[in-house]
Amino acid sequence: MASADWGYDGKNGPDQWSKLYPIANGNNQSPIDIKTSEAKHDNSLKPISVSYNPATAKEIVNVGHSFHVVFDDSGNQSVLKGGPLSGDYRLTQFHFHWGNSNDHGSEHTVDGVKYSGELHIVHWNAAKYSSVAEAVSKADGMAIIGAFLKVGPANPNLQKVLDALNSVKTKGKRAPFTNFDPSTLLPSSRDYWTYFGSLTHPPLHESVTWFILKESITVSPEQLQQLRSILSSADGEAAVPILSNHRPTQPLKGRTVTASF
Ligand SMILES: [Zn+2]
Repeated sequence: MASADWGYDGKNGPDQWSKLYPIANGNNQSPIDIKTSEAKHDNSLKPISVSYNPATAKEIVNVGHSFHVVFDDSGNQSVLKGGPLSGDYRLTQFHFHWGNSNDHGSEHTVDGVKYSGELHIVHWNAAKYSSVAEAVSKADGMAIIGAFLKVGPANPNLQKVLDALNSVKTKGKRAPFTNFDPSTLLPSSRDYWTYFGSLTHPPLHESVTWFILKESITVSPEQLQQLRSILSSADGEAAVPILSNHRPTQPLKGRTVTASF
């Protein structure tokens, strides 16, 4: 398995990642199952707030195992703050995880319950580091907001993203994607669970302060099908749709999950 060849199916799937990325068996891996009765409420935990400038939205990219909506992170125009974080964490991209059927697809689970997908809005510690590349391997480098996707009515705020997928159908394709505020994708409640964990795919750095939102957002079956329509194959190769791209939950190994509510 070449490092560029990790994926989500049997031959190069999550249970093989540790061969090239030993940290896959580390003490702070993500995702996890959130056991709500064990999540301690912390009165001192501040709310989180996001302030995103839609003008920082830049492009949409097919990265082969998913697609990213990428933001201009050269300044502090779009930031996350609050919770246990000190200073501003700057928005760099958002993406989704999903499954090959609607009864699973989220990475985190809640009391063992799987959702149909999960949105990740990714930020890096711009108060301390000079780029996401520098921050991504540092313990205080990253902060990710996770929101669960639950089957329901079509989500109008998601449609602009889904409509753009046609322009990045194959691996490596990129297209302009502008004037978008990802906070429009978030639920109205900002109640969250937080814990220390990792990126959920290689290189799996243990560098992430996670904020998993309690309230889910809706997505229609047709919208989930649109996510599954993008390809992991490049132009000219046999078409391989990305049917599934979620890592199973990892052991908690003594970590504490804290609830803001
Ligand atoms: Zn993710």
